[in-house]
Amino acid sequence: MGKTTGFLDYRRLDNPMESPQKRITSFQEFHRALSAEKRMEQGARCMNCGVPFCQSAYGCPLHNLIPEWNDEIFAGNWSHALSRLLKINSFPEFTGRVCPALCENACICGMDDLHNAVTIRENELFVSEYAWANGLIKPEIPAVRTGKHVAVVGSGPSGLAVSDLLNRRGHSVTVYERDDTPGGLLMYGIPAMKLDKKVVARRIEKMKAEGITFLCSTEVGKDISASRILKQYDAVVLCCGARQTREVAHVDSSVPGVFPALEYLTESTKAVLEGRESTRNASGRHVLVIGNGDTATDCVATAVRQGAKSVHQLVRKPRPVEGTRVWPYRPTGEKTAYGQEEAAALYGSDPRLYETTVQELLTDEAGALRAARIRQGETEAEVPADMVLIAAGFSGAENNIAQVFGVSRDEKGRIGASDCTTENPKLFACGDVRRGPSLVVWAIAEGRACAHEVDRYLEGYTYL
Ligand SMILES: Cc1cc2nc3c(=O)[nH]c(=O)nc-3n(C[C@H](O)[C@H](O)[C@H](O)COP(=O)(O)OP(=O)(O)OC[C@H]3O[C@@H](n4cnc5c(N)ncnc54)[C@H](O)[C@@H]3O)c2cc1C
Ligand code: SF4
Repeated sequence: MGKTTGFLDYRRLDNPMESPQKRITSFQEFHRALSAEKRMEQGARCMNCGVPFCQSAYGCPLHNLIPEWNDEIFAGNWSHALSRLLKINSFPEFTGRVCPALCENACICGMDDLHNAVTIRENELFVSEYAWANGLIKPEIPAVRTGKHVAVVGSGPSGLAVSDLLNRRGHSVTVYERDDTPGGLLMYGIPAMKLDKKVVARRIEKMKAEGITFLCSTEVGKDISASRILKQYDAVVLCCGARQTREVAHVDSSVPGVFPALEYLTESTKAVLEGRESTRNASGRHVLVIGNGDTATDCVATAVRQGAKSVHQLVRKPRPVEGTRVWPYRPTGEKTAYGQEEAAALYGSDPRLYETTVQELLTDEAGALRAARIRQGETEAEVPADMVLIAAGFSGAENNIAQVFGVSRDEKGRIGASDCTTENPKLFACGDVRRGPSLVVWAIAEGRACAHEVDRYLEGYTYL
């Protein structure tokens, strides 16, 4: 422990944010970094607990070596901090931006008040960005190749994590990606204001320089058959996500103006990157977002930035109430994320309508969507809606992928066992496709665990 009184001497200081009014004028990230000196103080707040719950099963799914790198941060030993960070976390630049910081819920500094927890996520981000900016993260090309070839289907965080470790081990990795660019939901899904796409591209360039091949715009099962891939490679890993959109009663997705959230968010990001208007533009429209969670929040925030006339968000469940605080925390109560904050700042009220469902979508004489009849408890009402975004979650792996690989899906639509194996010994699965819709940090953890299994299968042992 570098500074024994750090947690008493310094208060938690979060990265400053642009105001909602300012940040909605662009799709750029809106958190600003602290100075190195201030960040060192935040590192000093870590008490280096004998039992660091933050890195245990109660906290970070990756089991990041948090107290170790916090100590190095306090000392300003940035390269040491980085080496401890990269030992466990393949992509701290992603988790440092979008992780909900499960570690902070388990931080002992936050035992009485969660707002006193160490700024673990932002400390992680600072180390990572310092390293990228100062050339500490460079391509590391494996010295020896094993002669074994692995295909990875899907390039989201789980696909990238499994590819990264297997390539370091010397296996030759080819990633098949249906989208035109690698990254999965990091690229198309999570909007640019949460995760700048240059950050994703920077990582992919490094992985390419290390010898990983990315074959984009190639859908396995359509552009190349599953049987060919299984024959051609020594092992195959499914990392195709859980993208089967959940249906919403009374909402016909074929009605013009109704879009699945992912289609809307993907097109919006492509438009931002290409500097053109989105073909699914909310500008001047009354937008109805159906669902709760990250995806719904990102739809609200995107619609606000596109200049929607109004945004309502329908949430089926009741407004969460503050529960008893039991440490390590699973935060209870209503969470107002950046999108709701922005909508409230712009339109004057929180966009969420709780315990509310759609009864019917209403069209005008010309057949154009104009409103939705909604039910809130026993009351029915009409809200204007000429754009409806379905963000009610995902129900597991897409239907065809299990079929083409001849493996089963469980009752939740997931593929693979807890050790990432499947019925076919050379086929593995990890990330959302195995776990169900989850988080970036879990996808990375799964990808790393899966790499161990694949390596063991290929070599008979693993030291990864
Ligand atoms: C809108 C949105 C916002 C989110 N925000 C957050 C957040 O803030 N923080 C957080 O921690 N998590 C967030 N998540 C969840 C997180 O993004 C996912 O848990 C994570 O990306 C899962 O990673 P993955 O690698 O398993 O799958 P994905 O990221 O879904 O990647 C799967 C990839 O497989 C490709 N693919 C699928 N089928 C094929 C095929 N047949 N052939 C070739 N390629 C194929 C897809 O094109 C895709 O690129 C969010 C999710 C969404 C939808
Ligand atoms: S990956 Fe997430 S949970 Fe783990 S240390 Fe980083 S912010 Fe915390």
